[in-house]
Amino acid sequence: MRKQFEDIYGHTHMLTKQIGEAGGQGVVFRTMDPDLAVKLIHNSAKTDVSADTSNNRRYAELRLLPLPERINLTLPRAELKDAAGYVMMLLDDMQEFGGAFTPDGVNDGVANPWLDEIQDIAPEFADFIGGYMATGGSRRRISAYLGAARVLSELHAKGLVYCDFSGRNCFISTVPGNDTVWLIDADNLSFAEAITKDAVCTNEYAAPEVIQKGLFSPWSDCYSFAISLFKDLMCIHPFMGALLEQDFDKDDFADDAEARAFQGDFPWVCDQDDNSNSGDYGLVEQREMILTNRLFGLFDRTFSEKGRKKRKTRPTMLEWFFALAEALDGSVRCQHCGMDFDVSLGKCPWCDTIPRIVSLKSRKGQSSLWKFSKEAVDGAELRVPVRLMKGPKPSERGDTAFSICCGKDVIRIFNMDPGYAWAVSLDRGQSFQNLFGHADIPNGSLVRCTSADSNDVVMIEVKIE
Ligand SMILES: [Zn+2]
Repeated sequence: MRKQFEDIYGHTHMLTKQIGEAGGQGVVFRTMDPDLAVKLIHNSAKTDVSADTSNNRRYAELRLLPLPERINLTLPRAELKDAAGYVMMLLDDMQEFGGAFTPDGVNDGVANPWLDEIQDIAPEFADFIGGYMATGGSRRRISAYLGAARVLSELHAKGLVYCDFSGRNCFISTVPGNDTVWLIDADNLSFAEAITKDAVCTNEYAAPEVIQKGLFSPWSDCYSFAISLFKDLMCIHPFMGALLEQDFDKDDFADDAEARAFQGDFPWVCDQDDNSNSGDYGLVEQREMILTNRLFGLFDRTFSEKGRKKRKTRPTMLEWFFALAEALDGSVRCQHCGMDFDVSLGKCPWCDTIPRIVSLKSRKGQSSLWKFSKEAVDGAELRVPVRLMKGPKPSERGDTAFSICCGKDVIRIFNMDPGYAWAVSLDRGQSFQNLFGHADIPNGSLVRCTSADSNDVVMIEVKIE
């Protein structure tokens, strides 16, 4: 295959490694330029790159869509001159979700006594769960999909549909602790009213009405999002359960069963009314240790018979954004076993350790606003997101409002957002002292932050338990 392509501006791009099977229609390659990638569209036989450039105009038109400002969506920058495809920005340190969240064979590096115990009893599960931790556990997965939900909610709010969403089109930074997410492959992006049936889909992630009738909509985006999230979080496709295992040796049956699973003919693996497709797959049996009640409820509304057949009953992307933000801000990492769990469980469901937890609860007037809880590890910096003061909003960037660091019975507060005036009360709000730079505040303090723009006041209770 050709390794060199010229764009319409005369720049030559040398392809290096393939980084993705982008959606149903093409492939993405890195180039010699570390921050540029090239997407190539297959010919109809999928044997080579298509030489038909008649659709390339469409990539230029995408730049005219009314996209929200600062949205993490990579658009085509230049069309190719004599092949179907385009050039796009893709930073060198970004990795596809598929590669980032596949636990198989990546457990090296994670070791602890709890994992050793599991290794003695169930070595395969120990390897699998070690790989799950090494690839960021549920916390990094939730954070990644929160980033993707942000992009999709903003597109939907503008009346745009992404059309071919899956984790294959999402990239996350490879730098530890950096959960920056970008979506690529915006080729099918379109106003809901303007989508033609030719828009491409990937059956594994597509909603039943897309596979059956080519009916794309914000609800089909939400369905694809839910499939991809479930798959990466629970390590199993939500419809690839027991019904696909029967007579799997018969190839025709397997193909047919897979097609039926993708088009929504089967119950999902956690179906409450019909357990014929349930079983011990991925982390399905441990689902209460991974999913918050709210997240489970959203999956159920998407994959239940009603959700499969009545697309408008599915949760919106805004609901997913809210549920993922809540799950991320309640995610505690156990210091004994290394697994993540929701703060509402009180103790680690994996190893029964009772953790030391720092919780920040915000309120505006008499109304509770948001809660942020994390493991309290001496000396470790925790970055508190701005949603603690504003509530979760997709248009709000994931910026840090301030950082905290837990000590024995004191909490250091620092890196405070200068857009607020900060003060602390040690007597439950009777009197306040202004905070500048950094300060060590006692456990149980009340922090007051006043917005410089709106003068809105938010109170934050800070507690280590
Ligand atoms: Zn644990």
